[in-house]
Amino acid sequence: MKVRHVNLKKGRLGELRTFLFWGWINIHTRVERDSSEWKAIVAHESKHWEQYKISYGLHPFLYKFSKSYRYQSELEAYAEEIVSLGKPLLVLPVARIIADDYGLDVTPQQAWRDLHAIISRETKRIENNRKFEDLGIEGVTMDPEYYYKN
Ligand SMILES: [Zn+2]
Repeated sequence: MKVRHVNLKKGRLGELRTFLFWGWINIHTRVERDSSEWKAIVAHESKHWEQYKISYGLHPFLYKFSKSYRYQSELEAYAEEIVSLGKPLLVLPVARIIADDYGLDVTPQQAWRDLHAIISRETKRIENNRKFEDLGIEGVTMDPEYYYKN
């Protein structure tokens, strides 16, 4: 996996590019090298690369044509990104992004629940889970319905 620092299309901060079974991550030049944002982008795109490999290279097609696959892919990638940043409060704005920006038929509430479930599961596995437990994400009981109504 190679990471390149390049100019990307407007609005994009990072992307995974693949060629046969070789992949690389492009990160926008406005993101400082090795910053926490950089690491979070690498975490997100590395997850997509993992998905690419376990799908035997079918990932781009499944991603394009299946909403449920695309949804699951982004939930997993954003979970990695949020865990990398160590900022559980991002679950809410990220759930909105997933629901609004990927052409999916999900509500932010649904995305919030699913993203939260993945992060809770992943943090048990990921070494830096202490940060999350300290911030209380394991014990979050906030009802998203309630949150979105207010
Ligand atoms: Zn993604």
